[in-house]
Amino acid sequence: MATFGNLTDRLADTFKNLRGKGKLSEADVDRTVREIRRALLDADVALEVVKDFTGRVRERALGHEVSSALNPAQQVVQIVNDELVTILGGEARRIEFAKNPPTVIMLAGLQGAGKTTLAGKLSKWLAADGHTPLLVAADLQRPNAVTQLQVVAEQAGVAVFAPEPGNGKGDPVKVAKQALKFAKDKQHDVVIIDTAGRLGVDAELMKQAANIRKAVDPDEVLFIIDAMIGQDAVKTARAFQEGVDFTGVVLSKLDGDARGGAALSVASITGRPIMFASTGEGLDDFEPFHPDRMASRILD
Ligand code: GDP
Repeated sequence: MATFGNLTDRLADTFKNLRGKGKLSEADVDRTVREIRRALLDADVALEVVKDFTGRVRERALGHEVSSALNPAQQVVQIVNDELVTILGGEARRIEFAKNPPTVIMLAGLQGAGKTTLAGKLSKWLAADGHTPLLVAADLQRPNAVTQLQVVAEQAGVAVFAPEPGNGKGDPVKVAKQALKFAKDKQHDVVIIDTAGRLGVDAELMKQAANIRKAVDPDEVLFIIDAMIGQDAVKTARAFQEGVDFTGVVLSKLDGDARGGAALSVASITGRPIMFASTGEGLDDFEPFHPDRMASRILD
C-alpha cells in the first residue's frame, strides 16, 4: 500500500538484521526497538502511540513468550504484527443496525476529508447488500455541497433528501429531522447524514454537528479522517471526539502517498475503531476495515 511503502521497507530492513540470529540479546532487542521507533515516527505516527507500541514490543521480545516454533527474527515480526493489530483496534467492527429502522449514520469531519464521497460509497455498498439507504444533505455551509451529494447519490443509485427552498433551508438540524420522518414514511432502512466541515476545527460547526447528533440520536457517528494529514490527525481526532463524539473512524485517501501516521494513530488515540477505509475517488474504492489485514499489508 503506497501510504505505508516507506514504513514497510524500514521495518523489513530492521527484521533482516535479525535474521540468522540464534538468540536475541537485550542489546539486539533494544537496537531493533529503536529502529522501529524511528520508522514509526518518520511515518508520522503520534509520539504517545509510538511509545506505548515500542514499550510493549520490547517487553514481549525480551519475555520470549511467543511460540518456540519460531526463530527469534520471526518472533519479533509476530510481536510487531500483533501490536500493529492492537493499535489498529483489534477486532474488526461493523455497523450496528438499529432494531427499529431506520439506522441513522451521521458523518463528521473536516472539509475535504471525503465525507460526501464516503456517503456515496457507503450507500452504494449498503444498497448492494439489500438496504434502502437515504442520503441527507445537512451540509448547508458550502453552496454546492447539496448538489455534490445529489450527484453522488445518483451515481450510487440511491435516494437523497435535500432541503427545499423555504423548507428548513439553512437549518441542518431541521433538515435532519425532516429527513428522518421522510425515511420512515418511505421505508428507507438506513439514513446517512452528511454534515458540514471546515478546513480547520471550528467551534461553530462543531456545535452544529453536536446539535444534529442530539436531534437525531444516531446509531453510528463516523468520523472521516484524511490519512494524508499527518501529525494533525491527533489534534483533529481529539477535537471531534470532544465536540461531537463518534462511534467509529473512516480513513480516507489511503491510496495517497502520504506517510500514513494518521491511520496508525487515530484508533488508539481515541479508543474508537476504524470501521472503513476509503482508497480512491471512485465509489467502489472502499472497503470494511480489517486491522489484521492492514497489519499484514504494512509488514508485507
Ligand atoms: P468533504 O468535504 O468531506 O465532503 O469531502 P469530499 O467527499 O468532497 O472529498 C474531497 C476530495 O477528496 C474530492 O475531490 C474527492 O474526490 C477526494 N476523495 C475523497 N475520498 C478519497 C479517497 O479515498 N482517495 C482519493 N484519492 N481522493 C478522495
